[in-house]
Amino acid sequence: MNTPGSSAVLRCSESQCLAGYPINERIYSCRECGGLLDVHYDFSLLPAASELKSIFLNRRVSPRNEDQSGVWRYRELLPFVADEKRIVSLREGATPIYSASRAADYCRLDLIHLKHQGMNPTGSFKDNGMTTGVTQACVLSATAVACASTGNTSASMAAYAARANLRAYVLIPAGQVAYGKLSQALEYGATVVEIEGSFDDAMRIVREIALETDLYLLNSINPFRLEGQKTIVVEMMEQLEWRVPDWIVLPGGNLGNTAAFGKALDELLRAGLIDRTPRLAVIQAEGASPFYSLFKSTDRSRLVPNPNASTLATAIRIGNPVSWKKALRSLDLSNGVVERVSEEEIADAKAVIGLDGIGCEPASAATVAGVKRLAASGVIRAGDSVVCVLTGNLMKDPNYTVGYHTGTLKLDDATETNPIPGRFSNRPVRVSADHQAIRTKLRL
Ligand SMILES: *Cc1c(COP(=O)(O)O)cnc(C)c1O
Repeated sequence: MNTPGSSAVLRCSESQCLAGYPINERIYSCRECGGLLDVHYDFSLLPAASELKSIFLNRRVSPRNEDQSGVWRYRELLPFVADEKRIVSLREGATPIYSASRAADYCRLDLIHLKHQGMNPTGSFKDNGMTTGVTQACVLSATAVACASTGNTSASMAAYAARANLRAYVLIPAGQVAYGKLSQALEYGATVVEIEGSFDDAMRIVREIALETDLYLLNSINPFRLEGQKTIVVEMMEQLEWRVPDWIVLPGGNLGNTAAFGKALDELLRAGLIDRTPRLAVIQAEGASPFYSLFKSTDRSRLVPNPNASTLATAIRIGNPVSWKKALRSLDLSNGVVERVSEEEIADAKAVIGLDGIGCEPASAATVAGVKRLAASGVIRAGDSVVCVLTGNLMKDPNYTVGYHTGTLKLDDATETNPIPGRFSNRPVRVSADHQAIRTKLRL
């Protein structure tokens, strides 16, 4: 690789520890203090910012996979792979950023941008991190990979493992994974284990098993996943012609992405590619908001897990987020905030995004719902530049969308009697198969 891979080390993310480990060690947390690890670089070896920008730009006209990938195109900022031939890519990233006027009106802002990570090969931002995670699995000569998942991680890992000819094992909470996602993991040949428990149970068990076996763990506690996810921010800045927005808004579940975004901002600053950081706003669903509670608490030294996390935005149905400490670090760096939104607010925001011609899954729509709240409370001002990250594709969870538009969407089918009202629901009309009947019905 034309970048210095040798400066990369693994380093404990706890500021009072910072223990270091070689980059090729298969380790997921610090042996000294149990903290999560970062991939750490000596960026003094980087080319100047202006040169970096033109390297990134010039790769756009190259036909090579690693140049077309919206992750590896920025490989100077993730120089942990010594040999480019090891890269496992599905041409991830390179996703569009849209301006969305209906969403802006809905939030009472002048302008809003939506960076659509649902336009990835498997339909979620997990691909940004899985290309780097699976590449590292290959560098370490792993033969099998594993993850716990609310759906998208398993879909993405299954696809990249298939590309790399690795066996894939996914642990998912039975009955709580949207069908679009489950179908992908099955199709890409992963061994799918449905456990009778929550995502948090799956997460705990797969961590234990990875320590006892040869399975290489590809949840977002794996720091190489976060390296790829950093590029979401890098690509966003490039698309904005390196003009830093006031806000980047993202949904918070396990908080890996929040951790990655903070690391990206820190490194972009150090590399001189930006001169200030945007503020991060992390949005959680009310029924699964332990990080919101932590943010509001006076004691931020301990997160109180929620064992009964519940939301129809299944991608963020997480009660015990593993990356909460790294996520706090991201908030500190960026003067960030955390907000939470109701099921109804998520559902309506998703439909509004749809009216801009842009489809996303429920967790993604929490961003626009959160912006609406933050704008109403004056935290975000009408003239602020705001980029929401849409994390997953509309097609991931069609049941949710049809349920919303037909007035049958309920948080819990068994206990809930009232469906979510749906301010923007768009019911199909049913008519007999008759030319005139259709014209009459539609008043055409
Ligand atoms: C994984 C995921 C999230 C949550 O991201 P974290 O990094 O776990 O906070 C949000 N939305 C979608 C669509 C996801 O797949």
